[in-house]
Amino acid sequence: MASEFDLIARYFTPARQRSDVALGVGDDAALLNPPAGQQLVMAVDTLVAGVHYPLDTDPHAIGHKALAVNLSDMAAMGAEPAWATLALTLPEADEAWIGSFAEGFFALAQEHGVQLVGGDTTRGPLSVTVQVTGLVPEGQALTRDGANPGDGIFVTGTLGDAGAGLRIRQHALETGEEQAQWLLDRLDYPAPRIGAGKLLRNLASAAIDISDGLTADLGHILAASRVGASLDMDHLPLSRALQGSGLAQEEQRRLALSAGDDYELCFTVSPACEEEMMVHMASISCPCTCIGEVTHELGLRLPGEDKALLQTAGYDHFKGVGSE
Ligand code: ADP
Ligand code: MG
Repeated sequence: MASEFDLIARYFTPARQRSDVALGVGDDAALLNPPAGQQLVMAVDTLVAGVHYPLDTDPHAIGHKALAVNLSDMAAMGAEPAWATLALTLPEADEAWIGSFAEGFFALAQEHGVQLVGGDTTRGPLSVTVQVTGLVPEGQALTRDGANPGDGIFVTGTLGDAGAGLRIRQHALETGEEQAQWLLDRLDYPAPRIGAGKLLRNLASAAIDISDGLTADLGHILAASRVGASLDMDHLPLSRALQGSGLAQEEQRRLALSAGDDYELCFTVSPACEEEMMVHMASISCPCTCIGEVTHELGLRLPGEDKALLQTAGYDHFKGVGSE
């Protein structure tokens, strides 16, 4: 059976990619040369089998997603991801599983110019922790606390797709073959909005990525900025696949508001910057929709809508679903 060191050498020692890596995998720690004038941006996320993804998820998708969720945090900060470390706990040295996991991980890493520079490999219940460090020009990071009354509230892409994908995976929703595939892809292969995040520097007043559901994550912006919001349900961007999924419209909206795992960006923009922002988003073909407005009055309001839609808040690991 392969030793820990064989596994690291075979699967987790990437060819040298970035010139700012003085020392990568193989020594006691990595040695990096951050460029002058940039701030380091760090994020870490753990994926636990059976909690963050169903046990039967393809290891290729787990490798992708473990990195993608961290890249999404980089996007929400307006950062450019640079280096990653990976702590892997495995019940056994299943090389087919590890090979497929590594492929999913490195495909996405390469797409974004991220180099794996270290990690840890241990035996135990399956758990994957990825840490990413990114770069942002000093003072230009996007944070959650800058939203002002009158700012527009925007989201990239479409919402609720991953939630519908999860229902399909759990056999709680049946749709046409093509829609099912597309929605499952949105669940398994989220595409972090790095390009959009970078273009929003100096334009967005606040930003967050949608990992726990729109109302929960927008709620964090509102709390940090001490403002409220009014959302227009008719403007929630829903994919054609979700709209054609056979779910009732109210259910589609519920997923869009509260199902997590979409990894889109939610951000606020002052009226003065809105046009420039839309031009930037169009230049990278990033779909972007205004879904409401920041208000003085605290709290989140859905004018004319069933308040029950708002009762379903995002996922909280210690309280469960629907907690406030
Ligand atoms: P140490 O005992 O000094 O912590 P390890 O034996 O854990 O060293 O790791 C040896 C080298 O391999 C280190 O550079 C470490 O960062 C790297 N490494 C270990 N596991 C992984 C992994 N899963 N992915 C990437 N690098 C890893
Ligand atoms: Mg170690």
